[in-house]
Amino acid sequence: MFHVKQDWDERWDVVVVGGGHAGCEAAAAAARLGARTLLLTQRLESIGVMSCNPAIGGLAKGQLVREVDALDGLMGRVADAAGIQFRVLNRSKGPAVRGPRAQADRALYRRAMQAALRAQRNLTLRAGEVADLVVTGGARPRVAGLATADGRRLACGAVVLTTGTFLRGLIHIGTERRPAGRMGEPPARALAERLAGLGFALGRLKTGTPPRLDGRNIAWERLARQEGDDPPEPFSFLTERVENPQIACAITGTTAASHALIRANLHRAPMYSGQIASVGPRYCPSIEDKVVRFPDRDRHQIFLEPEGLEDDTVYPNGISTSLPAEVQGALLATIPGLERAVMRQPGYAIEYDIVDPRELDPTLETRRLPGLFLAGQINGTTGYEEAAGQGLLAGLNAARAAGGGDGVVLDRAQAFIGVMVDDLVTRGVDEPYRMFTSRAEYRLLLRADNADQRLTPLGEKLSCVGAARGRAFAAKAAALEAGRRLVRALSASPDELAGHGVEVNRDGVVRSAHALLARPDLDWARLAAVWPELAAVDDDVAAQLAIEGLYAGYIARQEADIAAHRRDEALVLPDDLDYGGVGGLSAEARGRLERVRPATLGQAGRIPGMTPAALTALLAHVRKRRRAGDGGAAA
Ligand code: FAD
Repeated sequence: MFHVKQDWDERWDVVVVGGGHAGCEAAAAAARLGARTLLLTQRLESIGVMSCNPAIGGLAKGQLVREVDALDGLMGRVADAAGIQFRVLNRSKGPAVRGPRAQADRALYRRAMQAALRAQRNLTLRAGEVADLVVTGGARPRVAGLATADGRRLACGAVVLTTGTFLRGLIHIGTERRPAGRMGEPPARALAERLAGLGFALGRLKTGTPPRLDGRNIAWERLARQEGDDPPEPFSFLTERVENPQIACAITGTTAASHALIRANLHRAPMYSGQIASVGPRYCPSIEDKVVRFPDRDRHQIFLEPEGLEDDTVYPNGISTSLPAEVQGALLATIPGLERAVMRQPGYAIEYDIVDPRELDPTLETRRLPGLFLAGQINGTTGYEEAAGQGLLAGLNAARAAGGGDGVVLDRAQAFIGVMVDDLVTRGVDEPYRMFTSRAEYRLLLRADNADQRLTPLGEKLSCVGAARGRAFAAKAAALEAGRRLVRALSASPDELAGHGVEVNRDGVVRSAHALLARPDLDWARLAAVWPELAAVDDDVAAQLAIEGLYAGYIARQEADIAAHRRDEALVLPDDLDYGGVGGLSAEARGRLERVRPATLGQAGRIPGMTPAALTALLAHVRKRRRAGDGGAAA
C-alpha cells in the first residue's frame, strides 16, 4: 500500500495531527472505518478544548452538528452530554432556518470528548508535536509519514492536519505580542515552515476572543435573564433526553461611555494601530470593530454565559477585543452589571497561517501532496462546527485513501458540509469562512431535522455508522414511512373538515392530511382533532411529517434545479486536463481554472468570474476528448 523504510519507528494507517474539533472527528471517523489511527496532539489534556465561546451550534452551525451526528460523529452526543442551556434559534421562523444551539460546560465537554475518543476502537491518542512531513515519490511526490519534534518517524497511509490557529500563531493584546497557538499553548512553527517549503500557498487570518470574567462580581440581579428551552432539545438523533441541570444566561450591553473609551484607545488596538494586517471574521467582529463600523449605534448587546456548572467563570459574548488589558478592565466598568467585574483572562486577537483551500480536492486531500488531508481552521474556516464537519469528511477519506479506496464527496444538494467544502475548494477564502444558511441554495432540503435521512444511509454504506445508530435509524425510517402513508390516506371534504372547525375553500375538493399540512395555519394538533389516529403518531415523527407537508410544494420545485445541478456534477473533468489546450478560453479564465482545477463542470461554473463562454469552451473540449477516447469520465 505504501513504502515503509527501515528507519520508521512505527506504522499507522492514518495519523491525525491536532486534537481540536476537526482532529477529534477526523480521528474517530478514520477509526470507525477500521483504519489503525493515531491522534497526535500537543497536549492530551487539551483534546476537545473550546478555544473561544462555550457553545455548540446556532444558525447553520446547528445543521452542521446534526450532519456530523448523522454520520455517527461525536460532536452532537458530546454537546448533549455537556449542554447546560439548549435553545433552538429562529424557532418562530421556518424549519429550514432554525438552528439548534447549546451552551456547554467547558470541562464536561472536554471530558466527554476525551472519553468518547478513548472508547473508540482502532484509535490511539498520544501527546507530541509534529514537526515534519516525510515525502516520497520524486517527480510525483506523496506523503509517506511524518516526524515528531522529538525525532520519531511514523509511517502512514494518510495524514490529516487539523492544526487550527497554531501555525505560526501570534497573540496580540494591545501592543504586546506573544507567539502562541492559543492562550497558554505554544505555536506550531516547524510544520508551518515545512508546508511553505513544500510550495503550499499559505495565507494569514486573524480571530479574537473576549476577556473571561469572575462571575462572583457580576450584579446578576440587575440584569435581564435568558432561559433555555424547556424541555431542551438535544442535538444527537441518539440522545433521548438531556440530563444536566440547565442554567440561565444574562443580557447586558455596552453604553455611550464604553464607546467613548474604545474610540479614545483605538490607536492602541492592534487592528487599528497597523500591528495586525490580516483579516478577521466579518460576522464575528471585535467590539472595537463594531464601534467603528456602526458609529450610530449606542449599544451593543452582550450575553453573559456561565462557562460551567462548577466553574464560576463567565464568557461575555459580544465583546471580543484585543485592546490593552487595562483598557479592557476599564471597559468592563462602563457596562451595566459589570461595574465591579474582575477579569480572569484578558481578551486577545490571534493571527495564524492557513493553507489556501484551493489546494484541496473536494475530498479535502491536497492535490500537491496526495495522502495529505487538511481540515478545520487550517483551511481558512472559523468555528467548531465547521471544523468538525471538515474533520469528519477528511478522516473518512484519509481512511479510504490509506486502504486504497476512492474519495467520497458530499454535494451541495446533500449537506451543509458539502456546501462548505465546495465553497472552500472553489472560491478560496479572503476572510475566515463561517457557515450561513444563505450559502446553501437547497436549504429547504438541508434542514437540521432531516440530517439523518440525508446522510445516515450514506454513512451506513461507507461503514462509518455503528450498529446502535443503524438500528435507531431503521426504526425511525419505518415509523416515518408508516406516517407518510397515513397522512396521504386520511382525507376529508371541505364540509367534513368544517364539521371539525377546519375551514378550507368550499370547492368540494377532498383534501388529504398531507395536503393540509402545507397550510401554515394548520398544525398537527388541529389535524389530530379531525383524524384522532394522528394523535398516536410519535412526536418526532409528527414534527418531521408536518415539515415535509409544509415544504412539499417548494421541494418538488427544487428537485428540478437539483437534477440540473447533478447533471453538471456528473460531468467529471480529467485530473490531467491541460487548460492551455482548451480552445477559446481567455487567459483569465485559464488562470482561474488552473488555480482551482475543478473536479466537475458544475464546480468550474461556480468559480468566481467564470463566464458561460468559458464553460461552453470547456464542455466542447471535454466532449471532443471523450469522443477521441481520451479520458474524462463524463456521464
Ligand atoms: P483547534 O481547535 O485550534 O485545534 C488545533 C489542535 O491542533 C490543538 O489541539 C493543537 O494542540 C494541535 N496542534 C497544532 N499544531 C500541532 C502540531 N504541530 N503537532 C501536534 N498538534 C498540533 N470560532 C468562532 O466560531 N467564533 C469565534 O469567535 C472564535 N474565536 C476564536 C478566538 C480565538 C482566540 C481562537 C483561538 C479561536 C476562535 N474561534 C472562533 C475558532 C475556533 O476555536 C476554531 O474554529 C476551532 O477550534 C477550530 O478547530 P480546529 O480543530 O481546526 O483547531
